[in-house]
Amino acid sequence: MIQAFDYGEVRYFRMARIFLGRAIYWTGVYYLDGLLVDSGPPNLACEVKRLCGELAVRQCVTTHHHEDHTGNHSLIREHFHITPLAHARGLARIAAPEVHPQLYRHVAWGVPPPAEAETVGEWLETPKFRFQVIHTPGHAEDHIALYEPDRRWLFTGDLYLAPKLKYLRADEDIHALLDSLRRVIALEPEVLFCQHRGRVVNAAALLRQELDSLVELGERIQALHAQGLEEGEITRRLPGGDLLWRLWTGGHFSKRNFVRAFLRPHPPKREE
Ligand SMILES: [Zn+2]
Ligand SMILES: [Zn+2]
Repeated sequence: MIQAFDYGEVRYFRMARIFLGRAIYWTGVYYLDGLLVDSGPPNLACEVKRLCGELAVRQCVTTHHHEDHTGNHSLIREHFHITPLAHARGLARIAAPEVHPQLYRHVAWGVPPPAEAETVGEWLETPKFRFQVIHTPGHAEDHIALYEPDRRWLFTGDLYLAPKLKYLRADEDIHALLDSLRRVIALEPEVLFCQHRGRVVNAAALLRQELDSLVELGERIQALHAQGLEEGEITRRLPGGDLLWRLWTGGHFSKRNFVRAFLRPHPPKREE
């Protein structure tokens, strides 16, 4: 199913597979001025193909390689002769997607066909807008955000998912995520366009809330660790439950992943 939301110059298309009348997991793409930001999940290929034809897409950019964001890159190249752009660190993963993702990803989105993408530059232009491409690793190593300085718009992919995150993916780098949040907050964006939530106003304040809540959580985890507590015990002492998400994702999303991620040493910064 695709649902359209009109935010004036920006349009959001929320997408999900429907099971027993309910969306399994919403994701989405944005369209503005000929530019498609992400391409949606692979199991909605027919609908995405029709949508791209109606929208007259001229460019496509990828926020990160996860299949709910790059699932239709190959059809965009094949049918519309557009090569999607992505951060250099994502190209190999888009060219050879995971064949056996966790079951929940299979059910929600499917497995994308391999696709060719090209490296995005430091700026991305459309006839009307100019976007600063900001490397924002953490959720994924190749994650980027797009900032339109005149409008103070920030397209955040999966960088912002909630003012207070309740669980973390097993492969997320929390230290890199905190650093990325600090860098985008410094831009003082006004409106944020989240791939899973749609348009969010008061962008800088909400990103700051997300950052502050994560810093506080990290301090709590470090303090419990300093008392000699083990990973499982630290997890039990953190607020909030994660049972449903843990079961649904087979443990790929959990509270425990926060503990693991915060106790992992901060890797040295790599050269871009
Ligand atoms: Zn993602
Ligand atoms: Zn996502």
